[in-house]
Amino acid sequence: MKKLKNLSIVLAFMMVFTVVLTSPITVNAEVATVSAEKIVKAEEIVNEVSKEEFTTKKLNEQLVMATAWMQASAEYRAICYQTFNWSKMVLDNDLAKNTSKMPRAIIVDADETIIDNTAYQAHLIDRDYGYSSKTWAAWMQDAEAIAIPGAVEFLNYAADKGVEVFYVTNRKMVGYEGTVKNLKDLGFPHVDKEHLMLRVDTSNKDVRREAVKKDHRVVLYMGDNLNDFSSDFAKKSIEERFTLTDNNKDKFGTQYIVLPNPTYGEWVGTMYNGNWGASPQEKSDMAKNSLRKWNNPREFVEQKSAEK
Ligand SMILES: [Mg+2]
Repeated sequence: MKKLKNLSIVLAFMMVFTVVLTSPITVNAEVATVSAEKIVKAEEIVNEVSKEEFTTKKLNEQLVMATAWMQASAEYRAICYQTFNWSKMVLDNDLAKNTSKMPRAIIVDADETIIDNTAYQAHLIDRDYGYSSKTWAAWMQDAEAIAIPGAVEFLNYAADKGVEVFYVTNRKMVGYEGTVKNLKDLGFPHVDKEHLMLRVDTSNKDVRREAVKKDHRVVLYMGDNLNDFSSDFAKKSIEERFTLTDNNKDKFGTQYIVLPNPTYGEWVGTMYNGNWGASPQEKSDMAKNSLRKWNNPREFVEQKSAEK
């Protein structure tokens, strides 16, 4: 009985649809104009919705592999050891050969140079958040960053040799206590008010670097961002940064030690032309448009043959 009842309901619907579809429709010019306007508006709405749909969640998809590389790749880990092993050789060479009486110093950045914040990045991916100073402040307060492989050992080796370690970081003062706790917990040397130089007024690190250089000879600068070495690299285009890097190539590995960071940095801003306020869709488009592409002439032919 129940099946028969359902069948009759379906048949009734089919009859109504048939009547509607086969009814003569009177079309006049006015109605046609209204319909066209409606269609245009509907298309605009669809476009707006699809723009809105490209959310931070989608943009965060681009962050997944970069974050995963730092967390899951033993190659990343090996590069870090390689970097600090190399730094030790450079320092040993200086200790053996340089007779200057001026005290030695090493200037290191913190984030993604000696401590790893990828758990924060993964948190953004997990919650569909973009970066914000509020979540970042909470992360700093929790002091859960882990050490970059080889960093604690190298900086303690330097400290044991009488080299002063200065942490020149653009973490703001709101994160001071958490940063002190985090670095001390991990066993880094010289974590005190004199050596931990957070951002007070400007992100330009030149002033803090100059303050260290007044009384010290800086043997090495270490960072994941070229701005950790000189503000000359700041706020430049991709091409300008390339040219500057090429012009300073002899300093890399001898004075400037670079750690890899695929997750964020000045390099990302270059793709956005410095427009960090762009929408997730715009950021994605700008990143993709900045890619150097192979213009394969066979692509069209292959597509056509695949369709047959
Ligand atoms: Mg950094």
